[in-house]
Amino acid sequence: MKSFIDNAENTDFSIYNIPFGVGVFNREYIACATKIGNQVVDLATLYDEGYFDDIEGLDDNVFEAYTLNAFIELGKEVTQPVRIRLQELFLENSKLSKDERTIESCFYDEDKVQMIMPLHIPNYTDFYSSIEHATNVGKLFRDPENALLPNWKHLPVGYHGRASSIVVSGIEIQRPKGQIKPKDADSPYFGPTQQLDFELEMAFVVNRNTQMGYSISTQEAEECIFGMLIFNDWSARDIQAWEYVPLGPFLGKNFGSSISPWVVTLEALEPFRVASPQQDPEVLEYLKFEGNKNFDIELEVGIRPENGEETIVTKSNFKHMYWNMAQQLAHHTVNGCNIESGDLYASGTISGPEKGSYGSMLELTWRGSEPIMLKDGTSRKFIEDMDTVTMRAFARKGEIRVGFGEVSTKIIPAL
Ligand code: MN
Repeated sequence: MKSFIDNAENTDFSIYNIPFGVGVFNREYIACATKIGNQVVDLATLYDEGYFDDIEGLDDNVFEAYTLNAFIELGKEVTQPVRIRLQELFLENSKLSKDERTIESCFYDEDKVQMIMPLHIPNYTDFYSSIEHATNVGKLFRDPENALLPNWKHLPVGYHGRASSIVVSGIEIQRPKGQIKPKDADSPYFGPTQQLDFELEMAFVVNRNTQMGYSISTQEAEECIFGMLIFNDWSARDIQAWEYVPLGPFLGKNFGSSISPWVVTLEALEPFRVASPQQDPEVLEYLKFEGNKNFDIELEVGIRPENGEETIVTKSNFKHMYWNMAQQLAHHTVNGCNIESGDLYASGTISGPEKGSYGSMLELTWRGSEPIMLKDGTSRKFIEDMDTVTMRAFARKGEIRVGFGEVSTKIIPAL
């Protein structure tokens, strides 16, 4: 496929992608958007120009909104035809390519649009589904001999996170303060975290509400998933280590999480499906699944000090996940827990098998014992004030490239 938009071939936002987000256009007007090449497209105006008139179920201009929720909740019967329509409209010699007036009113250079929080997120859950990450953390926090706890290979371990503090790329995060108990101290002190960390994750967004008592099967799960984004699950390791027993993560996690502004649909990721890892021991019946449920999505994280150059500190891949999204959603609802449209389900830190592919500083520096050198000559055990952490994700196969762009966050000092 070739688009009439210049230089859209080998970018994250190629014609094979068609992601969805929400933008502030020319600093004055908010609408749902898509992106092709370096052009952000105002979907509310495109709707008013009649380009979606014959799409069944799209009776209102749901793009005239501050979030994607109303659009997503229409379900795949509507969101899929809309994506296909946009793809057709962006092709060479399409009707839109000859409609200069509409192009003038709907297409904006990316630097004229500020991307904002694309979703209202009712609930957020964080899983722990990378076997490499769970093994590394088990070694660091507990027992190197029994790194994986007995339940880990029988169910996708997770916890309920905090939705209120999820922010979009570009929003600064303040270093959190909390209770910290140094190893050799008898009691904790209160102060800024000394071990601020990122967690490289992907998250999926669901497109419906279910009733309490209803369980989503692994077979049905992907129908419920609108799309995915990059997720940075900020963590304060010293606060976490002291507070987490026995009920799990709390203030070491809920001070902030950052997401990329574009939601990439599951349909755009179809070409990048790969086989899921063999699960041994065999899982219970409700966690069994058919088909390729993992996705080959390349991931990287860079750290840029204030006024400095970025150093890429890790490269990982979403295909490493032991538990897939269908299993996560099936497990989450097997007890009758209801889901809500716009909910976010994060993968857990995505670590690869080698040291250069770990998804957190905790693992990369082995809890600070092996600092990472940056290009400016400084070193990092964890993230320092004024550092900007950027995560990127994209998939590629032959001439097809589909990417997520980035989530980029600057850390500012504790007050
Ligand atoms: Mn996490």
